Amino acid sequence: MPDQEAITAHLRDIHQRIDNACRKSGRPNTDVRLLMATKTVDPDGIKLAIDAGERLIGENKVQEYAAKWEALKNENIERHFIGHLQTNKVKDVIKYVTCIESVDRIELAHKLHQKLEQANRTMDIYVEVNTSGEESKSGVEPDKALDLMEQITALKTLRLRGLMTIGLASEHEAEIRACFRRLVAVRDAAQKAGLLPSPCELSMGMSHDLEIAVEEGATIVRVGSAIFGSRNYGQ
Ligand SMILES: *Cc1c(COP(=O)(O)O)cnc(C)c1O
Repeated sequence: MPDQEAITAHLRDIHQRIDNACRKSGRPNTDVRLLMATKTVDPDGIKLAIDAGERLIGENKVQEYAAKWEALKNENIERHFIGHLQTNKVKDVIKYVTCIESVDRIELAHKLHQKLEQANRTMDIYVEVNTSGEESKSGVEPDKALDLMEQITALKTLRLRGLMTIGLASEHEAEIRACFRRLVAVRDAAQKAGLLPSPCELSMGMSHDLEIAVEEGATIVRVGSAIFGSRNYGQ
């Protein structure tokens, strides 16, 4: 795990990359927030990044929120869920986060609504869209996204605030850019249909492709390895 100096340097580097991409595309850098993807990072590592000024984290697994909760519960940070969410984890995830970026099917939305109603709460959500066509990726297909959003609007505990996607894992910039443009096209159509607010959130871009995402309109980039180093799943 990198030390404070390394994490601070990595974060400075990432903010520089975001700023440069904003400048290149004529956007104010206040348009883009950095979400730290903290999967496999222990609480001490996350705290180093919080001490360096970061305020937004996302975990992929409900179990990781649970395991890190005691150590991080008093931190003044915003917590999102960004991973594949199983319906049997819904009851737990709503204890930990204020936003779920990975809503990709109506069964999940129904389950969330049910548990939120019981808890007398609301939740910000984004619809995750599979813009890469990779079967291994979660997310609703782009041409089914509006239909899903339409159904979600009937669920009053869910506040649809944006869209999320994972770009194609590719060496080719044009292919990655095409994924982000597909998300923008879904956003435009959804706004036109009154299914998304304007402006809304576009969560796209990771360590290796955040510049492309910012150029295409990302409002949140989700970065893990460029902050914390490569992940060791064997731990
Ligand atoms: C891990 C992860 C990221 C960050 O990926 P890096 O390549 O480490 O920056 C972003 N989004 C999701 C959904 C992730 O699981």
